[in-house]
Amino acid sequence: MSQFWSALVAGLTPYVPGEQPKLSNLVKLNTNENPYPPSPRTLAALRGEVGDSLRLYPDPNSDRLKTAIADYYQVDRDQVFVGNGSDEVLAHAFLGLLKHEAPLLFPDISYSFYPVYCGLYGIDGQTVPLTESFEIEIDAYLKAPACGAIIFPNPNAPTGRLLPLVEIERLLAGRPDVVVVVDEAYIDFGGDTAIALVGKYPNLLVVQTLSKSRSLAGLRVGFAVGDAALIEALERIKNSFNSYPLDRLAIAGATAAIEDREHFELTRAAVIASRERLIAEMAALGFDTLPSAANFIFARHPGHDAGELAAALRARSIIVRHFRQDRIEQYLRITIGDDAQCAALVAALREILGA
Ligand SMILES: *Cc1c(COP(=O)(O)O)cnc(C)c1O
Repeated sequence: MSQFWSALVAGLTPYVPGEQPKLSNLVKLNTNENPYPPSPRTLAALRGEVGDSLRLYPDPNSDRLKTAIADYYQVDRDQVFVGNGSDEVLAHAFLGLLKHEAPLLFPDISYSFYPVYCGLYGIDGQTVPLTESFEIEIDAYLKAPACGAIIFPNPNAPTGRLLPLVEIERLLAGRPDVVVVVDEAYIDFGGDTAIALVGKYPNLLVVQTLSKSRSLAGLRVGFAVGDAALIEALERIKNSFNSYPLDRLAIAGATAAIEDREHFELTRAAVIASRERLIAEMAALGFDTLPSAANFIFARHPGHDAGELAAALRARSIIVRHFRQDRIEQYLRITIGDDAQCAALVAALREILGA
């Protein structure tokens, strides 16, 4: 606290990112980073960008990257917005599309940045409970008496559960008067993107990131696809905030990542295969794991406290995420690592459980 702070700053409750410990030799399964390296084409593009051109400002519109994304998803370039990580894209969406008189609805168990943006921008955020089995219940959003906009991740985080596209379409059709933002940070690990519905529903904005399925959390690139009018709202905010959110390296590296379909397909298939193997191995140890369409699993052990398990794993240099939050305090969110990391996790759990 300081006398120099604005009233707004004094009232904020900032987001707390997962730990990024400086120690090496850690098995780091706490922030859903991809265990595989970025595309070699990205690394080459980054090297090619390091030089005299860094004197100059980057393209404020990131046209090359928007073109690559538009080509990949078969949409128009004016249906694409890019930002400094999808967190920035989401922030602009909160201010430009989700702030209304009526409340913004999102799940009670979801990405913990949503309430933070509500606090920052003075948005009335209201939570809608997931079902007993942690599923998003579309009827609850259709029936809500007051609804100014809707946002949820699909697959949801930290549960990993996927909502089928038909359910999203039912929501879009049943609430044509409000914007629905689908945060698809993990969609490439097992779901169908709602981008296919963008041409049909002018109230849909799909947000994605290169942080997870493209192994580029360190480059900070995210994007949104939606009707041109929704994209224009995001551009108006962006151009009132920072004209150059993506630097030259980010534009070059991200464009190469989107263009390298082969590397993308290989690495995501590897993560999906490891996930299914890990779920089976965890089941053999007595864990209940929710069905996951993400690059993480959400699991609990009926006989062991999740906080104690997380601490015991940490003592063995394995870091997973444990949320001290109502309804999920007995669950661990575990990122899918490479084969060696998954094996280390299973071996440590076997030792801890005495199995
Ligand atoms: C990781 C994540 C993001 C943010 O990704 P960045 O692009 O790295 O900012 C957004 N939404 C959800 C649900 C996430 O898990």
